Formats: sequence, structure tokens, C-alpha cells
Amino acid sequence: MAKYLVALDQGTTSSRAVIFTTEGQTVASFNREFPQHYPKPGWVEHDPRDILESQIGALRETVKLSGIDVAEIAAIGITNQRETTFLWDRRTGECVGNAIVWQCRRTSQIVDQLVADGCGEMIRERTGLVPDAYFSGTKLKWMLDYYNLRDRAERGELCFGTVDSYLCWNLLEGRPHVTDATNAGRTMLFNLHTQDWDEDLLKLMNIPRACLPEVVDSAGPIGLLDPAILGRAIPVTGMAGDQHASLFGQACLKVGDLKNTYGTGCFMLMNTGDRPVRSENGLLSTMAWRIGGKPTYALEGSVFMGGATIQWLRDELKLITHASETEGIARSISGTGGVYLVPAFTGLGAPWWDMYSRGTLIGMTRGTGRAQIIRAALEAIAYQSADLMEAMSRDCGRRPERLQVDGGASANGFLMQFQADISNIPVVRPAVLETTALGAALLAGLGAGVYGSMEETAAVWHPDLIFTPRMDEATRRLELKGWHRAVERSLNFAEH
Ligand code: ADP
Repeated sequence: MAKYLVALDQGTTSSRAVIFTTEGQTVASFNREFPQHYPKPGWVEHDPRDILESQIGALRETVKLSGIDVAEIAAIGITNQRETTFLWDRRTGECVGNAIVWQCRRTSQIVDQLVADGCGEMIRERTGLVPDAYFSGTKLKWMLDYYNLRDRAERGELCFGTVDSYLCWNLLEGRPHVTDATNAGRTMLFNLHTQDWDEDLLKLMNIPRACLPEVVDSAGPIGLLDPAILGRAIPVTGMAGDQHASLFGQACLKVGDLKNTYGTGCFMLMNTGDRPVRSENGLLSTMAWRIGGKPTYALEGSVFMGGATIQWLRDELKLITHASETEGIARSISGTGGVYLVPAFTGLGAPWWDMYSRGTLIGMTRGTGRAQIIRAALEAIAYQSADLMEAMSRDCGRRPERLQVDGGASANGFLMQFQADISNIPVVRPAVLETTALGAALLAGLGAGVYGSMEETAAVWHPDLIFTPRMDEATRRLELKGWHRAVERSLNFAEH
């Protein structure tokens, strides 16, 4: 009877719900945006009530739109913006304040201090992460300090959680205090090797274990949806952070399988199997997922300015009115004529890690115009992703066979072809581009026994288009060399 899977996709700017058939076809989806709060420069917060209301609203709307009978829903999966930190009262459920969003920089100094104290290496070794304010650990420490709550946390009166935890606590019967291993892996408190909270790191950040959630698998029974929400206690059996869910939704189940999501930024993850790979090239080592108690790991790298480079063309330079125009314009010329745009507007991430590099447009001649700059912007997204892929290949000692893509900018055929060309790798775009939601639904399906194995979930994934590399090797090398020369010019530019 049960033939549908539902994904709750709680993102940074909106909450979504998507209903899929067990064959992976999208039946209905609904998106509800919610406000962002910027109380000080560099600070970003979400009101926890907005998160809950928008997520419950999106779920109810999606079910209504679909016209399905809720009795036909086999299971629900949760996926979420990662690292965003909540702290609430175990008795009343009331949050102590707004959630601190992953983008928030308020704890940079705490991180600087940890590094100055010589703890950077320990953090990297245990958590796979490069110490940064981005991760939840220092955000939780900040909340405990600022609200003076350490004693209450010691007594077990408070609950910490990322979005997944917060949703489970509020939407599931019996208020389970849980998080899945992928989300735990983004706290800078979770030991990748032991798969448990790390006592030394807890001590280092002065965080009482009593406030931490139980870490559960990414697929398996988590609880039942509160019947007050949809009128039925539907099993919640899948949970993973957004990038991990997308890796699963892309069926990247084997070692070396690779996906890149082209959104505002780009997120590239490669499955590295049953052991975490230590990166020598500035990438993060992270969980892919944990299923049946068995951890699978991944390498992760991100490009800060992905689709955001195209937004910049639109909003600041006013060269275009819609992102989709860029494809035709880029195709209208045969090349940029040696022009490169390095969109290092906020510095460069892996493999460069230079916070002082700045945006650079170089190689212009008298004939350079709008089309060349637009094409250079698209190419820059591919070049940055190519550099990440190279770094991953070096870290793993193997070249991936193909690159699977999703995200808003993966709709751009020119960009995808250029990615295939410059990385000399087939680029595969699947039929369902909502791989994050699909991944959460598939994890839930696996956890509920709808699928008998991971391989069965992979059968749901279908390629739609394959972009085959067709640039000759000499041109490819020349273009990459030009890009790297441009990157060198952009490095270490801002005064510091
Ligand atoms: P996010 O999930 O980060 O909000 P999306 O996956 O929705 O991002 O993708 C939106 C981004 O993709 C925007 O930055 C936009 O500029 C870019 N984008 C959307 N369509 C295209 C296109 N056809 N060509 C290039 N970039 C695009």
C-alpha cells in the first residue's frame, strides 16, 4: 500500500518538502521561505519558530498539492542546512535564543584562540575538519558562555542540536534527542574514528556531554511523526546533512564516486569508503553516511563563489538580467580571448586557502567585451571545481571516472560541457536534479525497508544527459595554465 517517500529539506533560506514515488519520481514539492536575521555585521541567525513553522507548512502544503492519501506514505527522511546551532530547554522546548547559522562569524576569535593554543592539529586529526567558526562546536560554546548556562547544561536541563535534532525533537512523538552521524560530523566535537563525541574536544571547548544528542545512523528507525501534523504517525527513518544526502541521492555509493552541486557556492564530495582520508590539499574529511552502524567517509571541498559569480554579473555589473542568459552569450563566442575572471571576492578556499586573495579580471585587450567577461565568469566556476577535483584525486591517489552534477547552475549546458572539457571527465546530469531531497527520501526508504539494500536505492538514480569531454589535451593544458597564472595574480592582494 505504502508507495511514497517524503523528504523534508530544511535549507538556509527556505524549508521544502518533496514527495517521491518509491521509483524516485517527483510527485509534488513546496517551498516556504523564512526571514534571515543579521543582528550585527558578520552575524547570522534564524528564529527557531520560523524553522518549525516553515517546515511544517511546507510538509502540509506538499501533501495537499499531491492529493495523495497520507496512509500511502511509507517513510519520511530529513535533510538540512548543516552546522546551524540550536540550544533549548529540555523541559519546555523553549530555545535559549535564536539559532546561530553556519555562515555566522561571531566565534572566529574562539577558533583563533584554539589554533593559537596549538589545538588545530588535534581537531583536524579527530574531526577531519579544518578549525573554523563555520562548525557548530564554537557556536555552542558561545551560547553556553553568553547565556551563562553551563551549570544547567551539566545538569542535563538543556539540549544542543543542529537542525536535524531540532526537527526531530519538535516533530516526532516522544521528543527524541538525536542527530545523525553526518550532522554530528560537522560539529567539530565528533570523533570520525570512534564515531562518538570526543571527550578531549568537549573538555577543550568546555561543553558538557549531558547536552549532546544521541548519534544515530543516517538510515534506520528514528521515531514517528507526531500525528498532530498530518493525522498519522508516519515513520521517520532517514536523516543526513544536505551535502551528504545529495551524495546519496546521486547514488555515489562506491569509493571514488564524485558529485558537485552548483548552487550559490559549489560543494564537491567524493566517497572515500570505510576510512577517512586525510587531505594534504586543504579539503575536509567528513562522513558520507552511517548505515547499519557502518561509517562511510567522504572528502569535501567547496567553491565560495559558484552561481554567486553569475548573481554578481546580474546584480552588480548588470551585464545580464537572468542567470540563464549566460549560456547563449557564452556560446556566441569561441573563447574568452585569454580573459580570466578569478572570483576571489571573499578569498579562495581549497586548494588555495588564501583569505587575502581578491577578485581579479585579467588578460583583457581592446576587443574584450561583455560576452568575454560573461563567458569567463562561467568558466571560472568550472576552473575552481576542476582545482577541487584535482586536489581530491591527489589526496585519494585515484582519478574519478565521472563527475555527477546537480544544483541550479548545472542547468547551464555550456558550463557543464566546459567542466567536462577542462577536467577531461564525463559530466553526468541526472533526471532528478533535486538530489538532496531524493537522497533523504532514499535514506528513509532504506531505513524503512522499502529497499532491501543500498544497491536497490541506486537503481532509482537515472542519468539524463552526459557531457563528454572533447577539448584536445594541448588546449586544455594551455587554458588551465592561463587560469592558474590568473589565480597567482589574485593571491595575497588585500591589505593585512
Ligand atoms: P542554492 O541552493 O545555493 O540557493 P541553487 O541550486 O538554487 O542555489 O542555484 C542557484 C544559483 O545558480 C544562483 O547563484 C544562480 O546564479 C545560478 N544559476 C541558476 N541558473 C543558472 C544558469 N542557467 N546558468 C548559470 N548559473 C545559474
